[in-house]
Amino acid sequence: MPEFAQRRARLMRLLGRDSAAIFVSGGEANRNGDVDHPFRQDSTFYYLTGFEEPEAVAILRPGHAEPFVLFVRPFDAAQAIWVGPRAGVEGAVADFGADAAYPIGELEQRLPGLLSSASTLYFPFGAHPETEALVSRALASRRAAAPRGMRPIEAVRDPLPFADALRLIKSAAEVRDLQRAIDITGAGLVAAMGATHPGMHEYEAEAVLEAEYRRLGSPRNGFPTIAAAGVHSCTLHYTANRAVIEDGDLLLLDTGAEWDYYGADVTRTFPANGRFTRAQRDVYDIVFAAQAAGIARVRPGVEFHSVHNAALRVLVEGLIDLRILRGTPESNIERETYRPYFMHGTSHWLGLDVHDAGVYRANGRSTRLQPGMVLTVEPGLYLAPDAPRVPKRLQGIGIRIEDDILVTPSGRRNLSGRIPSRPEDLEAIVGQG
Ligand code: CA
Repeated sequence: MPEFAQRRARLMRLLGRDSAAIFVSGGEANRNGDVDHPFRQDSTFYYLTGFEEPEAVAILRPGHAEPFVLFVRPFDAAQAIWVGPRAGVEGAVADFGADAAYPIGELEQRLPGLLSSASTLYFPFGAHPETEALVSRALASRRAAAPRGMRPIEAVRDPLPFADALRLIKSAAEVRDLQRAIDITGAGLVAAMGATHPGMHEYEAEAVLEAEYRRLGSPRNGFPTIAAAGVHSCTLHYTANRAVIEDGDLLLLDTGAEWDYYGADVTRTFPANGRFTRAQRDVYDIVFAAQAAGIARVRPGVEFHSVHNAALRVLVEGLIDLRILRGTPESNIERETYRPYFMHGTSHWLGLDVHDAGVYRANGRSTRLQPGMVLTVEPGLYLAPDAPRVPKRLQGIGIRIEDDILVTPSGRRNLSGRIPSRPEDLEAIVGQG
């Protein structure tokens, strides 16, 4: 069975018979004037359908003779001339495996009939106001018909936690897509390192990186690239990328290409002139060791948060060695004195979304890692000039190192491990391209 059909089948088993689930595509968003942002399908909608157009609704009806129904924009000859052809109703059946397909304009009229045998309705209320109004009307008409013997809808539930649970465990095909995205990202990072020299702008490094992504077949990034030189590296989500890279600066690149909707998320930090200063190297070595400790924790059965704790311990010991913190590692961790220098988590799930679907904690317990999960391990230290007790020689140093780790039955595989991160390897590459 094709991958998308397998996912729908698995989800429908979770939802149970006598149910119907409604999923809504992403919508177009205006940028300015009559220009829209580039459209990229909603990740869960893509995960279940493979359908890449906006204004679509998918209905899954477990146990029904026509379990997969798609509503799509109809084919339009005039539209095809201006912006290219749409799949249309025929394409929805022929190319996307829908058991039945209708124009999106018929959703309101057809919805009550399509839901008529369902006693549990799955719909993500609060996210799609226009479709929600139609769903509410269908619910109301079922309620009104109940006295005449129509089976009422007894439960309304959110389908997203069920889909998220599936998305959290990656199939072999998904891991291959992620690996491809990561390999392309690695090639981009190496190209950008090779091209970097003091005097260029942050956005020039970004352009080299992304030219390589496009050359290798990635149509877009998973998120805006962070290209942060010097003190900007202390700003976690810096995306202005407009400053000149000065001699002696570090350049932090946090970036990821997409391949078939799966996105990499890798960070490398390197000296723009090809040589770490002593101070930069001192901080780099701490973050590098913290990352290794975090990665080493990854294996099936361990708690998600223990990866963070392993990396955090090394960072705090380092901050004590640098004389920024005083006292024991335990007391500093307890009092969270490290927060001015390390203010984010170490890991997030990775997949179709850069911060991918799936819970980190439920019922007060940290999620236990299982084979097929993919998480980032990305500790950092950010020694902003105005942060407390940072000695002059360390001020303005921000370093993050991020890799993408697959949990395997026997432990872990670092999917981005081939992208250089050892300081001597970085020094050998930077400026040599
Ligand atoms: Ca990142």
